[in-house]
Amino acid sequence: MVTTPVQSWGRVGSWPHHLAPLPHGGGKVLPALEGRTGLAFGMGRSYGDVCLNPEGLLWLTRGMDRLIHWDEAAGRLTCEAGVLLRDIQRLMVPRGWMLPVTPGTQLVTVGGAIANDVHGKNHHRFGSFGDQLISLELLRTNGTRLRCSRDEHRELFLATLGGLGLTGVVLEATLHLRRVEGPWVDAEDLPFKGLDAFFELADASEAGWEHTVAWIDCLSGADVRGIFSRGNMSPEPADAGARGQRRRSMPVTPPVSLVNRLSLKAFNTAYYALGNRRAGRRRVPFEPFFYPLDSIEHWNRMYGPAGFYQYQCVLPRAAGRQGVAELLAEIARAGQGTFLAVQDLWRPATVRPAELSAAGRDAGAGFSGAGRRHARAVRAARPRGDGRGRDAVPGEGRPHAARDVRAGLPRVAVVPGAARPGHRFGVRAQDDGTLTE
Ligand SMILES: Cc1cc2nc3c(=O)[nH]c(=O)nc-3n(C[C@H](O)[C@H](O)[C@H](O)COP(=O)(O)OP(=O)(O)OC[C@H]3O[C@@H](n4cnc5c(N)ncnc54)[C@H](O)[C@@H]3O)c2cc1C
Repeated sequence: MVTTPVQSWGRVGSWPHHLAPLPHGGGKVLPALEGRTGLAFGMGRSYGDVCLNPEGLLWLTRGMDRLIHWDEAAGRLTCEAGVLLRDIQRLMVPRGWMLPVTPGTQLVTVGGAIANDVHGKNHHRFGSFGDQLISLELLRTNGTRLRCSRDEHRELFLATLGGLGLTGVVLEATLHLRRVEGPWVDAEDLPFKGLDAFFELADASEAGWEHTVAWIDCLSGADVRGIFSRGNMSPEPADAGARGQRRRSMPVTPPVSLVNRLSLKAFNTAYYALGNRRAGRRRVPFEPFFYPLDSIEHWNRMYGPAGFYQYQCVLPRAAGRQGVAELLAEIARAGQGTFLAVQDLWRPATVRPAELSAAGRDAGAGFSGAGRRHARAVRAARPRGDGRGRDAVPGEGRPHAARDVRAGLPRVAVVPGAARPGHRFGVRAQDDGTLTE
């Protein structure tokens, strides 16, 4: 088998992999290569390294793209794990149904969304992807197939949810969809100045608004400014002329990053001014509201050949104000700006064990480049570590594995032969689906 260089979405490096596309249904057994480990790979939209397995096998899941069953009475969809969330949304929204939880891009697979237990702008209302997951089918490296749910192989179900592909390959999943009147979102943009104003807006929006997110100008100094956006699915019906998303492309990778302090300052000033001009309520189609970056194909190329780092963490509610201020101060001290600085609200998880879930405020940032200065900015964004490889963020928050390229995160479960070397594991999955220490 020949090797092919593969990158994750952050593009900070490119590593040789043996690629093994999986057929519909996943095949009888997972392809194997003597002495190599294997890992599922969806769309590679993880900013960090969770989808990479250097020198090892990648089981490509995009070929498993069939919708299997739709139960309208129960609002349940069964599909293969390589189906894109975009395809589900585009098929189901015109029929009055929608995925309750999607991340900031819909160009991800169902399997990838399960393995990272992704969240959207409505975590405080609908939780994470796992809250809509009813069951899944797992193919393990010993050839066994297991149907897992909250009632069947419960431990393996929970370990697979947010398990970074380490329990085996998800072949198919059954998901709960929600009813919607149409494709529109009633949205409101509110410019703010100062962290107090931000927290007042966030608190005031929690009860009445399903989707909340804020963009923060990291270069605005102590008197932080930004745009707070909130939205609810609109009662306007489907036939009111909603358009799909217009797509542009970043055709080539520029020789140097287009994102630097100068361009960021200009961008942030223009973006804040635009936010001020657009302030107020408007009705918008769901795609540009939920997935603004999907309209620019290959937008990750604008950081140039060195790629970029993403960092994201959840801060406990009580530590939110202080923690966010600390994060912003550390980022400023490291001399790095970012245009991808966002804040969402989180509620406690309902499906995952308490020790693997978190509630509070979600803070994310993207840093361009891969030099030492950039690595310092990423380190600065996680001021304290607990010495066991687990990141500690202000107020004992939690980092987001899908965003983090620095590894060192605790991996949860492993199937013999399915995991990558060099990572820590707490739990091992047995053939009958139970987990042991
Ligand atoms: C523009 C953008 C916005 C984003 N916004 C958000 C956001 O708001 N919230 C959020 O949570 N995330 C967000 N993300 C991250 C993204 O949603 C996740 O990284 C997602 O898991 C990517 O899915 P994928 O199909 O590309 O999976 P990959 O990146 O290919 O793989 C991700 C993980 O899933 C595993 N995996 C993939 N398929 C399977 C399978 N069939 N069985 C078992 N394991 C599997 C892989 O082994 C890997 O560990 C964003 C990413 C981008 C690029």
